[in-house]
Amino acid sequence: MTQPFSMRDAGAQAALASFRGGRLPHAILIEGPAGCGKSRFARLFAMSVLCRNPQQAPCGRCPACQKVAAGIHPDLLVYEGEKGKAKSFHIDLVRQLRAQAYVAPNEGERKVLLLEDVQNMTEQAQNALLKVLEEPPASTVFLLTCQSRGQLLETILSRVSVIALSLPDVETCADILAEHLPEYSREELLAAARDASGSPGLALEALSQDSKAHGHRECARRVLELLGKGQEAAALARLQPYEKDRQGMMALLEAMAAQVTNLLLEEEKKAGFSHLQLVKITAIIERITAAAYSNVGGLLLGSALCAGISQVMSETSGGKTS
Ligand SMILES: [Zn+2]
Repeated sequence: MTQPFSMRDAGAQAALASFRGGRLPHAILIEGPAGCGKSRFARLFAMSVLCRNPQQAPCGRCPACQKVAAGIHPDLLVYEGEKGKAKSFHIDLVRQLRAQAYVAPNEGERKVLLLEDVQNMTEQAQNALLKVLEEPPASTVFLLTCQSRGQLLETILSRVSVIALSLPDVETCADILAEHLPEYSREELLAAARDASGSPGLALEALSQDSKAHGHRECARRVLELLGKGQEAAALARLQPYEKDRQGMMALLEAMAAQVTNLLLEEEKKAGFSHLQLVKITAIIERITAAAYSNVGGLLLGSALCAGISQVMSETSGGKTS
């Protein structure tokens, strides 16, 4: 079982341990800066509540723990507004969860309602939540996450126990990143940890963006190479993952345009393309990029790109004068 980042936090460990001792409040607020692992910790906590082996909860092995890990436990219900958007957690959603709170658990003795990023609740929504926190159903545990308790109404705060999580230092953050991304060097991980001010979640997000961009560059290079050798079907197969990913397709086209420009600037080696071919290919990439902006589907973009470049190669093959 992968432990969340925040399990390195002494407060988080103490909170879980004290729960094992049997003292479980009805509502717990997990507070901490962006990317510190609140959401992961909340799921681990939910696992503890629902685990069938209370002495070792969360055991990570029982059916309940495994269902929580897979995100399919019927007694763990998750509610949130729009990610990162203030006032997007509306009263309607609170009404829904309030109704759920009074429904008996499906499998065990308890159910957990996880309310993520409650700082995004409207004041109306917070007041509606307060009503259910004032008369909590015996079998329901509320887990709330938020960045700072100052963003919540005093009345809500008086009804919850707070577990405050903090960010690890940069070295520890890099250790955490290494567990998730063993392919990166220590220097790269330290740099990412510093850029994210020690937030493992934010650093992971940045690194995954980075590795996506790297993937697009690699794919663009390979597709261009295949088309240069006249292997249109193989090139098209490479583009298949982009069929439903317009943003990825745009990134790939951008990467390919940059690569063609670089080849044009090189005096001698042009990877088997002639100057004229590269000029024509640039025009094709521009045309396909414009089509991508006007909402043409990914499948069509990919095949138009491959057909266009293939045609240039067959028309002008042999014409390697630059
Ligand atoms: Zn378990």
